[in-house]
Amino acid sequence: MQTIFQTPQPAVVPVAGSDAHFPVRRIYCVGRNYADHAKEMGFTGREDPFFFCKPADAILHVPEGETGELPYPPRTSDLHYELELVVALGSGGRDLSVEQAMACIYGYAVGLDMTRRDLQGEAKKQGRPWEVGKAFDHSAPIGPIYPAERIGHPGQGAITLDVNGNVRQNSDISKMIWNIAESISYLSGLFELQAGDLIFTGTPEGVGPVVPGDLMVGAVEGVGQLRVKVVA
Ligand code: MN
Repeated sequence: MQTIFQTPQPAVVPVAGSDAHFPVRRIYCVGRNYADHAKEMGFTGREDPFFFCKPADAILHVPEGETGELPYPPRTSDLHYELELVVALGSGGRDLSVEQAMACIYGYAVGLDMTRRDLQGEAKKQGRPWEVGKAFDHSAPIGPIYPAERIGHPGQGAITLDVNGNVRQNSDISKMIWNIAESISYLSGLFELQAGDLIFTGTPEGVGPVVPGDLMVGAVEGVGQLRVKVVA
């Protein structure tokens, strides 16, 4: 097929411990999936979680053992981190049961749902879409994907983020309101899921701002680590 300009390369995430790469089709994110984070955002913690998307090329992939560099984005003075467990799908479908959803999982990674909180707040107030707050360039830093056949399916374990060595987020993935399989199952009722889809499963409490020079180190017990430095 003749295209009028060169087709962009697909976004990819390295698979840990191999030369293979996971090609990213879509990025789905779960909002308010930990009760204590919902409360710190001004909600009761009893509302159902919900979904939004980032473009696939918002990925900033950080190879194992390396430190990624996140350029401070424009038009914000309140860039927030949200450390999240990310699920990578190796297959998909529609209206998946919880059991079918588990079978679609290829692996897991540690990711950051970076947020221009000031622009997101303004969008909420005006009843406008969230893209300017959530879907900007490099807004989805992510470490390598660990295949489930190597690490299993994490159902509990610490989820933490340090900024410059100070603990900012410290919870447990067992505190998700909707667990991983339930999120996939629900999402598959809204969209047909496919291999290559990533799902950011929500952040625990403790979100806050970073500025150029800050080093974020996130970890999910049993999965891995992600190191990202904010640069000007
Ligand atoms: Mn988030």
